[in-house]
Amino acid sequence: MKIESNIYLLRVSIPIPALKVVNSYLIDTGDDLVIIDPGIGLPDSIKSLERQLDEYGYNIEDIRHIIITHLHVDHIGGAYYLQKVSGAEVYIHETEVQNINEIVMALDDTLTVYREVLESNGVPTEVIDMLATHHPGFVNRKIYSEIKYDNLLSDRDRIRVSNTTIETVWTPGHSRGHICLYLPKTRMLLSGDHILPSITPNIRIPLREDEDPLNEYFESLKKVGEKPIDIYLPGHGDPSKDIFNRVDELRRHHIERLLEVNRLVLKGGKTIYEMATKMDWDIDLPWKDFPLIQKFFAFSEAAAHVIYLYKRGYLSREMTDQVYLYRSIIEEEELRRRLEEDILL
Ligand SMILES: [Zn+2]
Repeated sequence: MKIESNIYLLRVSIPIPALKVVNSYLIDTGDDLVIIDPGIGLPDSIKSLERQLDEYGYNIEDIRHIIITHLHVDHIGGAYYLQKVSGAEVYIHETEVQNINEIVMALDDTLTVYREVLESNGVPTEVIDMLATHHPGFVNRKIYSEIKYDNLLSDRDRIRVSNTTIETVWTPGHSRGHICLYLPKTRMLLSGDHILPSITPNIRIPLREDEDPLNEYFESLKKVGEKPIDIYLPGHGDPSKDIFNRVDELRRHHIERLLEVNRLVLKGGKTIYEMATKMDWDIDLPWKDFPLIQKFFAFSEAAAHVIYLYKRGYLSREMTDQVYLYRSIIEEEELRRRLEEDILL
């Protein structure tokens, strides 16, 4: 679609194994070709990208700039190959590169980085051991190490490409260094995985005591809500005009999740892992048959919600046999009232 005189924005849908499709976006300014999130980088995905570029009249060598919304491999995986072939510069938020250096590159086959958090929250040793060698960060370390991260972005940076400007909006929550990209002239937001039209983005795992990723996510929703946006183009799914309703739905979804967590620990202490096994997920399988990585995402999501409640004094916590047990200390209706006050207003 033409977004300004001589500037075109095009969507390329790239097949990926788990979520089925990830969207890449091309911005063609006439002089410069930009790609945002070049997909997962598996051979089939690269072929699909090449074929679609060809249909639009481009090839990989034409790409000058590669902008990454966040470090997940379905978004960043293709960057290495594209950069190698085209010599394009890579742009990514500075926190995401810090994440890659301190967490992804530190992953080893013992899962050192996560082990303590997982163990102290009740994840069984056999699950941790299996996860150690299957975590996408561990499996794809080579991809991350071979990308040259040319341009480190921060919040509200302006990337100037020929005669147009792309603004960064730092939106942590789904990952620490997630960015959305805003095109001010056309009031478009490339929302990455921060706001998706038909699935609720996973909230990242809290790794340190001072982290509160769900709160980060709410702050990031607020930030996006302050911008005039006529249409958003997500990392998965179709473009949509109704961002404000979607933000409201996402906030309400998390309030229900927080209440669900509280209900699970009304009658006694549970670990975060136990809660994760009992929460209502959009996967039609019993917990024992969940794919391993889905167990990890479910645990991360549960942990983000539990920590949000605990930090606000809505859950109590005690350490028993080296695991944390959380317990409800507030009535459901009272909790609902307070959460709505904190999150919706
Ligand atoms: Zn993601």
